[in-house]
Amino acid sequence: KISQLELQSVMVPKRAKPATGENIRGCVRVRFAPSPTGAFHIGSARTALFNWLYARHRNGTFILRIEDTDKERNTPMALQKLLDGMGWLGLDWDEGPEVGGDYGPYFQSKRQAIYQEYLQRLRADGCVYDKDGAVWFRVSGTPQHIHDAVRGNVVREEVKDFVIVRSDGSPVFHFVNVVDDIAMGVTHVIRGEDHLSNTSKHVELFKAFGAPLPTFAHIPLILKSQGPGKMSKREAGALVEDYRDSHYLPQALRNYLCLLGWSPKDDREQLPIDELIRLFDLSGINKNNARFDERKLDAMNALYVRELPMEDFVQCARRVLIQAGLFPNKGGDECYLRAVLRISQEKVRLLKQLPSFIDYCFKDDFAFDEKACRKILKKGDPLMRLRELRAALQTSDDFSEAALETLVQSLGKKHGVQTGDYIHAVRLAVSGRSVGPSFYALLSALGKVRVLTRIEHFMQSPPIELPASSIQT
Ligand code: GLU
Repeated sequence: KISQLELQSVMVPKRAKPATGENIRGCVRVRFAPSPTGAFHIGSARTALFNWLYARHRNGTFILRIEDTDKERNTPMALQKLLDGMGWLGLDWDEGPEVGGDYGPYFQSKRQAIYQEYLQRLRADGCVYDKDGAVWFRVSGTPQHIHDAVRGNVVREEVKDFVIVRSDGSPVFHFVNVVDDIAMGVTHVIRGEDHLSNTSKHVELFKAFGAPLPTFAHIPLILKSQGPGKMSKREAGALVEDYRDSHYLPQALRNYLCLLGWSPKDDREQLPIDELIRLFDLSGINKNNARFDERKLDAMNALYVRELPMEDFVQCARRVLIQAGLFPNKGGDECYLRAVLRISQEKVRLLKQLPSFIDYCFKDDFAFDEKACRKILKKGDPLMRLRELRAALQTSDDFSEAALETLVQSLGKKHGVQTGDYIHAVRLAVSGRSVGPSFYALLSALGKVRVLTRIEHFMQSPPIELPASSIQT
């Protein structure tokens, strides 16, 4: 059901480009309007995400408009980072750069003629005057409230006359922002709370053009993980590219960003994208600032890593291992790779931890953890256990987890020792550590040859000096 306010806001604005049939019937049109001046900040990504979700939820149109009027500060590289970041997060736009649309151009730097036309309209209506060389907008409004879908009724700041075109002819942000929202038939302005204070000026401009007001929704700030202050671009972990480069899953970051300032009003946190689209609404956006919590993001990432279909996990993990120099770009043993990844998936929270978690599976000169060595080698007779197990493994061809478990258990019974004694010694010999993937699964993945070679090597040159008693032939 469309509210009165929304109905009003989708009416075709005076002299704007005629909307297509669909828009006249009240389709939602939202836009993300970044100024590409630097890297793609997660705060901007969240603004883009909320707009995208709202468009998808309402079956509307998501516009990407590039506010690149500041020639000094806008760079092609920043634009590329933005487009890449949006693509990576799965935020596809219906109109904008690369895809075009009926309301273009979608770069403000290419819309000068449109701004001129709108300026003439204001002149004709006596809404502007020239002073000191610049064009000033004459404010006629009386103080009132602005309705905001997130903040409710907000008392408007008093607005004085303001410059809309500088003396060098360049149009000011407030002017082009509003002109484009009118000309592009934008129905909902969903943006960061830092723009709330600009909205008074924007409302004046909408009124001067005789255009209906869009629904405003100002979303709360993202505070840095600790202490006061908002998350700035300089904060560690503030940029979308950092997460991409460190192999976070985009669906996990997207889900997490969604919860920064919005909630589905129940306890659920992990929500598949279809569910997010179904549930997302402006009424679920919180008034309070949201605090960025990297641990929560990591936990979210772990959930998504765990439930990746095996083939997808292999694709992601292969890239990480190739980058770490652990797996060859071409011609690697895919079967072995899969065997190792199968036992690692549920243990890693972040894909970037994968190389350090299983590097020993891909190289024989792995390091031995000194603490683990001291702990394991000072108890019992680990070399004896290795010798017993080596003998048993040599005669066994079944390297399945179940067979290995039976084998170790019967060895324990036979020699009157705990199975743990075998497990600790062998894990250390084949991996250099005391922890890792589940033991029998690990042996099975490494395979008979690797396991026996490593045990052999370990017995011949133990990583630390062993007590004399355990050095026997
Ligand atoms: N270019 C503005 C920004 O990046 C957009 C403001 C708006 O969404 O209206 O903050």
